[in-house]
Amino acid sequence: MSQPLQFLLRAEEMPTHWYNLLADFPEPLPPPLHPGTKEPVTPDLMTAMFPEALVAQEMSGERHIEIPREVRDVYALYRPTPLLRAARLEKALQTPAHIYYKYEGVSPAGSHKPNTAIPQAYYNKIAGTKRLATETGAGQWGSSLAFACSVFGLECNIYMVKVSFHQKPYRKLLMQTYGATVHASPSDQTAFGRKVRADDPNSHGSLGIAISEAIEDTVTHPGTKYSLGSVLNHVCLHQSVIGQESIRQMELAGEEPDVIFGCAGGGSNFAGLAFPFVQRKIREGKKYRIVAVEPTSCPSLTQGELRYDFGDTAETTPLMMMHTLGHTFMPPSIHAGGLRYHGMAPMVSHCLKLGLIEAMAYPQMRVFEAAVQFARAEGIVPAPESSHAIAAAIDEAVKCRTEGRKRVIVIGLSGNGLLDLAAYDSYLSGHMHDTGNDD
Ligand SMILES: *Cc1c(COP(=O)(O)O)cnc(C)c1O
Repeated sequence: MSQPLQFLLRAEEMPTHWYNLLADFPEPLPPPLHPGTKEPVTPDLMTAMFPEALVAQEMSGERHIEIPREVRDVYALYRPTPLLRAARLEKALQTPAHIYYKYEGVSPAGSHKPNTAIPQAYYNKIAGTKRLATETGAGQWGSSLAFACSVFGLECNIYMVKVSFHQKPYRKLLMQTYGATVHASPSDQTAFGRKVRADDPNSHGSLGIAISEAIEDTVTHPGTKYSLGSVLNHVCLHQSVIGQESIRQMELAGEEPDVIFGCAGGGSNFAGLAFPFVQRKIREGKKYRIVAVEPTSCPSLTQGELRYDFGDTAETTPLMMMHTLGHTFMPPSIHAGGLRYHGMAPMVSHCLKLGLIEAMAYPQMRVFEAAVQFARAEGIVPAPESSHAIAAAIDEAVKCRTEGRKRVIVIGLSGNGLLDLAAYDSYLSGHMHDTGNDD
């Protein structure tokens, strides 16, 4: 009999609680600081931006937080997600390693991001919010929040980094299909956007600028709250369904991972996969290697400093203790748009400091070489972001071959690349470089 490739959970095996690593850190996470007073932020400062339930989750030390029934009902559209054995990739690599991937690309938006967009829209809805404002880079977050807002009947106002707005029309159309309003950022909708445009009429925008615009939109429109798709503790919390399911699915496969690879932009899909495994390292002494993989052109974990920094360009967010390249850093326009953020989730940064995880950086060309190899072996066209984890996993599997050692490798496949085919075009046609724009 041929070996099983899919390890599926039944609907009733979907996690009922999110897992909160804040409860298990051996050293507490440094708190976010007020940008003016430099004192730890108080909940009332945050409730201007977020509904109380999310503020409570942001600061909670509770280990398990129940997922509301209404959220699980929407998760049920695509969760539990599959874990697959990459047997054909193993064969192509002639490796003794066993490679598994947890696939979040089956969600409506094609990535892990609805895992937090859905609860964020839900908690806003029950708190009486009418409208959400947010930013998006390449558009994965915007399309996920637009979908979640359509489910719960909220208006959705999105600031999309201008270069992506023009270069990636399909995700903009997806957001509009879900009913959202999309502005190219810097826009004329906010004072900050108008200032950036006056200073530089040709500004392509950045995630930091778009965040500043969305925050300004929030504080100037009644009934509006702000929503962030990565970095924050409550986002990492919501993503923990990925790792919890993966643990059960690896039990079904009858194997323990040796190495786990996830890509890291703001850190949320990595956190979601990794943190339930990190808990086992802390509490059960497990020895997994857990590796965050980022682009060499935006290397916050491998090159950035661990210090307090702002989350946005206009210096409006609280200061967070995180690995950062500086809040004015302008990353080159690589195709993995979701990995172009100057900072890293404080919880992921803290894991690195405590030696619970490792970090690596990969250049764009190597990432796409791995992406194409994966697509040809497994059929799924991976998102450029996820392909960073694939590249690192392939190198690990090749090392297993040369060393003649079996290892069990788990990849976080955070999304599919079907709306990123222009990036594949750039690679396949030979126009791609390791940094900066295409020819
Ligand atoms: C947004 C995105 C990422 C990066 O965001 P994280 O918060 O680091 O997870 C990674 N993969 C995909 C498919 C994305 O859409």
